[in-house]
Amino acid sequence: MKQVDEHLADILGAIRELPPLELALPESYGGVLAEPVTAPVDLPPFDNSAMDGYAVLASDVASAAETSPVTLSVVGDIAAGDQGAYGIGPGLCARIMTGAPLPGGADAIVPVEWTDGGTAKVTIRRSATPGHYIRRAGEDVTAGQTVLPEGTRLGPAQIGMLAAVGRARVLVRPRPRVAVLSTGSELIEPGRPVGPGQIWDSNSFALTAAVTAAGGVGFRQGTVGDDPREVLATIEEQLAYADLIITSGGVSMGARDVVKEVLSGLGTMRFEKVAMRPGKPQGFGLLDDRVPVFTLPGNPVSAYVSFQVFVRPALRALQGLPPTPPRTVRAYLAVPITYSPEGLRQYLRAELSVDEDGNHRVVPAEGQGSHQVFSLASSNALIVVPEDVTDLQAGDNVDVLELP
Ligand code: AMP
Ligand code: MG
Repeated sequence: MKQVDEHLADILGAIRELPPLELALPESYGGVLAEPVTAPVDLPPFDNSAMDGYAVLASDVASAAETSPVTLSVVGDIAAGDQGAYGIGPGLCARIMTGAPLPGGADAIVPVEWTDGGTAKVTIRRSATPGHYIRRAGEDVTAGQTVLPEGTRLGPAQIGMLAAVGRARVLVRPRPRVAVLSTGSELIEPGRPVGPGQIWDSNSFALTAAVTAAGGVGFRQGTVGDDPREVLATIEEQLAYADLIITSGGVSMGARDVVKEVLSGLGTMRFEKVAMRPGKPQGFGLLDDRVPVFTLPGNPVSAYVSFQVFVRPALRALQGLPPTPPRTVRAYLAVPITYSPEGLRQYLRAELSVDEDGNHRVVPAEGQGSHQVFSLASSNALIVVPEDVTDLQAGDNVDVLELP
């Protein structure tokens, strides 16, 4: 049997980064920068007011206090967006709004709350030191500074940063487009009635959501029955647009394992047994020399665990990100694990929490069958029991994958 790490290494060895695309900012969310981005100007680009108030000479208001207020003449109003044509001399000030350029001569802002709010003359009841409530040019970012390095995944704040330095378009590796297909003649679309021997399709929904959670764009193709021609035609249709294809079902040892049947010999597809539980039957390869195809086992927990262990790292590699699994923590077992199969890496659904001493604690869920979706839906983590370990005591430390 093939080892988990060997299978993952083969997958990552076959994956090529997606070519970068120039996208408009609204389309760039979730993309990974394929260029470093530098600021063409200082941020802020000019000295400006941090408050609504009055631009003054600090020396004019040095003695201002509740008991000895200072009165200044207001030469005009400066709003955000104004050009800042005023000059301020002794005894003078300008009413100024947040973000408006600081007028020449002024070296402090007195917030409106410290004044009587006057428009021709203003009475100021507190002193301000030079620089007070002034945002200096370049105090955020200096011209020429790298604001986002290549390889950054673009979230909301990073997209805001790009806009703030004037970028309308940016070169990114886009979120991979992933086609998700369930196979099985027993599968019925949720919302429709199930007859004898039928079940509702859950894999295509769970895996499409897992794609989104892993930073891709999932296209759920629903279900196809175990008909070789239909399965092959549906997979081939996805090649037109998909950066990656995921199927579930039809890859084990049954008489109707149609995915394995129709894809064997195509592209670089290989169907193997991987030394893990759940998730032993795995298929992977490239079709059309380009599109990675993962044929995951049909049992819902097997499919989902396989996604986290193999597909998620591949999705990251497509965007040029480090192909890491979900976040892994060390935690102590709250109860023993009495049997784990020798020679297989076991992934146990579990509840991970932090105890009152701040230590990670993990409890395996009841019901570890690969068809048992209730325990998966009520778990937040997977305990990883190594291949050579069969028994663990309460208190032993284990690696735990946090599920998204
Ligand atoms: P297979 O790998 O096709 O032999 O399927 C293994 C088991 O998983 C069978 O019990 C299937 O009914 C079940 N199964 C396969 N695909 C799905 C699916 N999309 N949703 C829920 N259960 C599934
Ligand atoms: Mg099947």
